[in-house]
Amino acid sequence: MSESAILDMVGISKQYPNTNTSAVEDISITLNHGDILGLLGPSGCGKTTLLRIIAGFEQPDRGVVEIAGQVVSGSKEWIPPERRGVGMVFQNYALFPHLTVAQNIAFGLEILRKKSPKQLQLRVAEVLELVGLSGYADRYPHEISGGQQQRVALARALAPGPTLVLLDEPLSNLDVQVRLKLRQELRQILKAARASAVFVTHDQEEALSISDWVAVMRHGHLEQWGTPEKIYLEPASRFVAEFVTQANFIPAQRRGNLWETEVGCFAIASNDDSDITEKADLMVRQEDFILKPDETASVVIRDRQFLGRELHYCLQVPSGGELIARTPFGGRSLPVGMRVQVMFPQDSVRVFPAVSGSETRTSAYVSVPH
Ligand code: ADP
Repeated sequence: MSESAILDMVGISKQYPNTNTSAVEDISITLNHGDILGLLGPSGCGKTTLLRIIAGFEQPDRGVVEIAGQVVSGSKEWIPPERRGVGMVFQNYALFPHLTVAQNIAFGLEILRKKSPKQLQLRVAEVLELVGLSGYADRYPHEISGGQQQRVALARALAPGPTLVLLDEPLSNLDVQVRLKLRQELRQILKAARASAVFVTHDQEEALSISDWVAVMRHGHLEQWGTPEKIYLEPASRFVAEFVTQANFIPAQRRGNLWETEVGCFAIASNDDSDITEKADLMVRQEDFILKPDETASVVIRDRQFLGRELHYCLQVPSGGELIARTPFGGRSLPVGMRVQVMFPQDSVRVFPAVSGSETRTSAYVSVPH
């Protein structure tokens, strides 16, 4: 473990009793001091299990977990959760309903309470200010909003100055507007507190916008680990491209220097010089499409959603498949039923090995825009 690492996991595996497959399998990740790691993946991929292993609520079958240079879980070592120096923020906030905001935050500061009630008060005030809730100290949880409750939960976790903060789907119980606002604040608060953090989410945008590092998981395995930009721009696998980028896939056949598809021929430099020779699937991000009205084109606008700043077009291709394109609004929109030529910048496309029987389609993980 390097000196700058706050968390080091090596070869972590865990299978629950009476199950057929591992919940997490051979995961190795290192996180440096002050960095935020997002564990991202679809439901059931093992994110929560990994978080619980870091916290000490679960014991891995194999592998070593080190926090701030100390082995907290290994073949012989075991440090219980309360002695790992981690702060936990739960999905449902887990605030005590009969305690005020200040009392909730003070709950984890037992030592300070005994040593110096004055210092305890100061620390509570300090973290309340950090999360923007000065003035709410005497309210009870039911007297504040969901977003404020989540900020109290964060303040409570940060109050003892933990080595590492662990957050389990911290924003998932909030409605969309609050979630978007708190997403930005969460990162700011963690950075202002100079905290190192690991959080679990199934929301791509949340992971990309909050994290310094994203670990994409699938079926218990680590698919890719990198900066948000790297993962978005250079997905290492088709799954990452589908889940994180929500990209479109267009089957293509090589003809000399061109890739021929049902929506046109494109000159594209392959991102992968391995064995993709004849057939491939071209990955095109939704925002990279350029649509040009053309009466002779074979692609038709089947549906259009106006989202204020941008438009989402659902495009029908000759084989019956669909593509999703988003374009900035700019005061102009194309009508449903219009035939369009589709184009995209050559360097925005990534080439993946063809999947047998694949068809032109958008990602299986496309979510409703918010
Ligand atoms: P995620 O957080 O990504 O949704 P989990 O870590 O909760 O995934 O679950 C990973 C896998 O382990 C799933 O198949 C889930 O059903 C299984 N699992 C989780 N907790 C338990 C448990 N206590 N007992 C048995 N299986 C479990």
